[in-house]
Amino acid sequence: MTVLLPSGETIPSLGMGTWMMAEDDARRAGEVAALRAGLDLGLTLIDTAEMYGDGAAESLVGEAIAERRDEVFLVSKVLPGNASTAGTVRACEASLRRLGTDRVDLYLLHWRGRFPLAETLDGFAALVEAGKIRHWGVSNLDLAGMRELTALPGFCQTNQILYNLTRRGPEHDLLPWHAETGIPVMAYSPVEQGRLLGSPVLASVARRHDATAAQVALAWVLRLPHVNAIPKAGTVEHVRDNARALDLTLTDEDLAELDRAFPPPSGPEPLAML
Ligand code: NAP
Repeated sequence: MTVLLPSGETIPSLGMGTWMMAEDDARRAGEVAALRAGLDLGLTLIDTAEMYGDGAAESLVGEAIAERRDEVFLVSKVLPGNASTAGTVRACEASLRRLGTDRVDLYLLHWRGRFPLAETLDGFAALVEAGKIRHWGVSNLDLAGMRELTALPGFCQTNQILYNLTRRGPEHDLLPWHAETGIPVMAYSPVEQGRLLGSPVLASVARRHDATAAQVALAWVLRLPHVNAIPKAGTVEHVRDNARALDLTLTDEDLAELDRAFPPPSGPEPLAML
């Protein structure tokens, strides 16, 4: 399963997140193995950020992909405080050193800060020109932010936002806008950082498919063709579990049961962030 970018390229519907990786030496080897197992299973989009572990997550990703850079669609992010024109370029160059690569495939503004979007976009344009990033996008922008962004020159390739069964606010207006404009959404925290996985409703749907709660939560996010998901899994076992979500298609009965337990928004809601 893939998601189409405005550039015409496709990216995997299911990728891998890395927030909170590289924070515990005892887990490090398992995390590297988990990312490599994910690549073996076709989860070839890896999402990271300069923020994660103050660069340590990017170094861990660099280690995991060292021998297989060309298999990976690599996503990283600049912190808002660094997102001036020159600061964006500097931040990306530091990320590239930690990642041990010469280019990031998709570089995102992590969230909006004090620098005008136009300044950050000038930094992105300079990075594209230098071949240091292939594409750029944003994260945590609401509808007003996306409208402002897309009135500026350039082509945003994605908006990475919080979206899962317990965070359905974007369905009111942001997701429909993304479907209309063809700019896909990358859903972060798709299993609500693990908090969704104990839900008895997910367990009941999972039982009907001989699946797991994680697979149901991910398949639900992936039901929309313009949305991909980047669960973080720190073990090979969890990566394997998540990868099987690609084989699960939820039925109308499943979706109705999930709607009853996790109702869609009845009106506009501010975009939530984690
Ligand atoms: P998440 O992916 O919803 O949940 C991660 C948690 O779920 C971890 O504790 C993980 O445990 C557990 N888990 C994953 N798969 C599992 C499975 N099959 N069975 C049981 N437990 C499972 O939350 P997230 O890390 O916040 O979000 C995903 C990624 O999105 C991040 O890593 C990051 O790359 C990105 N993100 C972006 C933003 C932003 O502002 N742009 C914000 C938040 C996150 P183990 O580690 O033990 O496997």
